[in-house]
Amino acid sequence: MRIQYDAVGMKSHCGDMRRRVLSNDKMIRPISVAKRSVTQFFLSVLDHLNLNEKIRGLLPDSLSILLYHRIDDPNSDSFIGFKDVVSARRETFAAQLDFLLKRYQVIAMSDLQNFLEGMQKPPKNAVLITFDDGYRDNLVNAVPELEARGLPATLFVTTGMVDGRNWPWWDWVAEAFRHARVEECYLPLLGKRSWGTRDAREKVTREFIIANKAVKAEIFRHNMSVLAEISGFSLNQRVPEGLMMSWDELRGLPKRGITVGAHTVTHPILTQTSPVCAEDEIRACKSILEREIGDKVTAFAYPNGSFSACHEEFAQRSGYQVSFAAEGGLAFLKELKDDPHAIRRVGINLKDDIPRYAVKAAGLTRFIGNQG
Ligand SMILES: [Zn+2]
Repeated sequence: MRIQYDAVGMKSHCGDMRRRVLSNDKMIRPISVAKRSVTQFFLSVLDHLNLNEKIRGLLPDSLSILLYHRIDDPNSDSFIGFKDVVSARRETFAAQLDFLLKRYQVIAMSDLQNFLEGMQKPPKNAVLITFDDGYRDNLVNAVPELEARGLPATLFVTTGMVDGRNWPWWDWVAEAFRHARVEECYLPLLGKRSWGTRDAREKVTREFIIANKAVKAEIFRHNMSVLAEISGFSLNQRVPEGLMMSWDELRGLPKRGITVGAHTVTHPILTQTSPVCAEDEIRACKSILEREIGDKVTAFAYPNGSFSACHEEFAQRSGYQVSFAAEGGLAFLKELKDDPHAIRRVGINLKDDIPRYAVKAAGLTRFIGNQG
């Protein structure tokens, strides 16, 4: 089996405990054209007057934690996978880093841990940069830009995907629709759908992925098998070379200023899986990374930002010092100390021009109708 998902579907879930399913960091809520124009104008004014940073500067002992996924051009011929996972093209990412250099203080994961231990206070306008999943484009496109500016970052790795041993399931879905031998069919959860044009295919891919994030592991597994059958794109299809990073590449990151963190073994939605399986995923990822990288791993990120109180407990029991979600907004030091396993991050996506990015970097995301 070369597609990543939770292998065990169980009846008992953490739903009886405090449920912390957070917003999808990659989704933008639909807003009208008129409202969008007003919002864009408002954001431009905020940016022009440097108001984001000024407001942010009034909020001491806080930091913005930025969440990136892929850094690539989703419209290039060589692009493989689900386009929505791209956070920025390389040139946009470089411009965002230049923006941060001018107005913010980019800190490392070790600084955050020092803040929590009371050894130092966050500098004014502190920002932490993070990446999820372990895509190779992070190494090719993001790390050189960070390195050129002397900026640190943290990369959360899904260990089962390293070396392309398994697909990120959302990328497999995108490729299954792209290579499908039919262009119309009844799909699980969605009903009858057609995908004869590129736009229609991207839409149905997105809908299928979103719908399958909301189902339990057994149903998820069944739906992937149905799609494999419909499309003729095998679940055992080889992962394209160069999609994910290798262990050797990951081992080289710390000396380039990149902290390696954990992101489970198979990237299940933890709230859709059994507590036993979830704890295994959280714990095993840490030990695999520490064995392969040869360094202690103290930071964890919840797949899709979804977690319950029990998962916070699993992360703490597994020996992580901090765990990251995908809920937007500024992270205050007091909140971090009170709840170090539910840390907010602000998702960055392709729609983020500099005025939008400025609001996100300041942690003031409520102004743009976007939780991430
Ligand atoms: Zn992820």
